Amino acid sequence: MPEKAHARPETRAGALCRLGSLLLQQKYKLLSPEATTEIAGRARTGTSCPPAILVGMGSRDVVVVGAGHNGLVAACYLAGAGLDVVVLEGLDHPGGGSRTEETVPGFRFDTHSVAHNIINMTTIPAELDLAGAGLEYQEMDPFSIGVHGDGRRVRFFRSVDATVESIAESSPAEARAYADFMNKAVPVVRTMLPAVRGEMSARDVPRRLLAARRALRGGAAGTVRDALGPYDSLLRRSLPTDLTRGPVAAFAAHAGVGPTLPGGATFAWWQAAYHLFGQWHAKGGAQSLTDALVHRLLSLGGELRCGARVARIEAPDGRVAAVVTEVGERFEARAVVTAMHPQVALLELLDPPLSGPPGADLAAARRGNVVQAVIHVATDRLPAYPGCAPGDWNGLQSFVDRLDDLTAAWTASEAGLLPDVLPLYAFTTSAIDPTLAPTGCHTVYLACPAAPARVEGGWPARTDEFVERALELVEGRAPGFRSSIRGISVRTPDVMEREGWLGAHPMHLELSLDQLGPLRPTRHLSGHRTPVEGLYVSGAGTNPTGGIAGTPGRRAAKALLADRS
Ligand SMILES: Cc1cc2nc3c(=O)[nH]c(=O)nc-3n(C[C@H](O)[C@H](O)[C@H](O)COP(=O)(O)OP(=O)(O)OC[C@H]3O[C@@H](n4cnc5c(N)ncnc54)[C@H](O)[C@@H]3O)c2cc1C
Repeated sequence: MPEKAHARPETRAGALCRLGSLLLQQKYKLLSPEATTEIAGRARTGTSCPPAILVGMGSRDVVVVGAGHNGLVAACYLAGAGLDVVVLEGLDHPGGGSRTEETVPGFRFDTHSVAHNIINMTTIPAELDLAGAGLEYQEMDPFSIGVHGDGRRVRFFRSVDATVESIAESSPAEARAYADFMNKAVPVVRTMLPAVRGEMSARDVPRRLLAARRALRGGAAGTVRDALGPYDSLLRRSLPTDLTRGPVAAFAAHAGVGPTLPGGATFAWWQAAYHLFGQWHAKGGAQSLTDALVHRLLSLGGELRCGARVARIEAPDGRVAAVVTEVGERFEARAVVTAMHPQVALLELLDPPLSGPPGADLAAARRGNVVQAVIHVATDRLPAYPGCAPGDWNGLQSFVDRLDDLTAAWTASEAGLLPDVLPLYAFTTSAIDPTLAPTGCHTVYLACPAAPARVEGGWPARTDEFVERALELVEGRAPGFRSSIRGISVRTPDVMEREGWLGAHPMHLELSLDQLGPLRPTRHLSGHRTPVEGLYVSGAGTNPTGGIAGTPGRRAAKALLADRS
């Protein structure tokens, strides 16, 4: 049965954050410990802070709200442009969905994101010299393998040719179909890339759409079908059987998009992006991205304050003026960038809240009930899949046998039910990074990409059943897996929500076609500017997309800098 998560040792970013806070306190001699305790006490007991006890924290050029990777990316660009920037983070550590913790003694697991792919398709790591700040990415190749229940294996390597060869071992016809699918998918992905990198202008759209139409070779009607349809039907048309459909669908689901969502086809075409750019895990875990960003921010003169949950963004007279934390610290600012859930930022924290058509549009943005549930399994060996080959544990190991199972699971989860057949995949990060586990031992990160955020009966009552079924499924693919387990820590959606992750939705808002790129979070706000002067929005729920991308952070910073010049 699941062990309780234990106390975390301090991460490098946590230490840097503490150091940053200490330096800041010394610099401004802000609060005596007694004052902090008194104000914190009021916040805990729910007493609202009357203006008389607000503590002035000085004036900044920019306050960034939220130290997820997007907030940190934005802050780095702003500090790099010479602005006086402070990042306020509600939790006692930075990183949001880019963290790694010792959730089982001696074993370090990513708490949320594992594979950092989109950011590695951009110039952000190079522009911020994150390698110089200690970040090293390791390629996961093969990026995915299908570990089918009937013993068949298909390996998806960076090389399309090697992948086709692997599929041909089970089915030459399927291999030919996959090659044909990639022949179309590669140009489609190249067409989409500038948009995903956050570099596409509206003027460029018609030319790009034309290029996509040529790549799809289906005429106007065929293009509309293949681009605007769901990936369930695209995969059924393009790939003959579940041998490849299952694992390709599992990878698309990993992006948080359901098989029957109109427009979701994009996420199956996106399979080609991993052949083009590979799949990447940060050495030391997702935390290393956060550590490097914090390092870069501090080196550029920026500041980070953790344990500083923002309660209010003051914007009297249509202009942003200050940010107030839950404990009553007041930071005056010429500009504010919110890098958290955009609906919470602009409809709950902003005072007065966004109103009129922009407010109504934002309130209408959707997030579904289908999210991820994660189990950290510490083991004394890698899962022994019969017929496995060296390298099989480098990337995602999919246990999705049938596209139908994934589709049914999505429908069940959306309705608040635990799926009958759990779609499941594993990342065994210690296989490429032995620093994450004691010698000879391993970190098996099990994820269900179609878990209900709100489940019938509630997660506390359903967690044991969920864990049992997941472990049983892996035992079926890797006999002896259960006997290799040294410890377990479970991160169900309710756990993530308690940590402040709204609805536990990995992308903050649904990644549907009507909420992507220039429509994310809404048409009004996709330029990151808001109707409130000096207030900018960033984060996974903004243009262009969610996930570990960094592009919403960079775009928001650039919008702010353009407005100043
Ligand atoms: C289980 C899971 C697995 C995932 N796996 C992957 C993956 O493998 N690859 C991938 O690319 N993506 C993955 N994702 C998605 C990815 O983690 C997120 O999309 C990404 O972390 C969003 O980054 P962000 O900086 O925009 O926001 P977040 O990471 O959510 O950061 C927002 C920050 O703002 C802080 N905050 C919120 N409210 C306040 C407030 N009032 N005051 C101050 N601070 C506040 C939060 O504490 C948080 O630190 C996964 C997500 C989940 C949940």
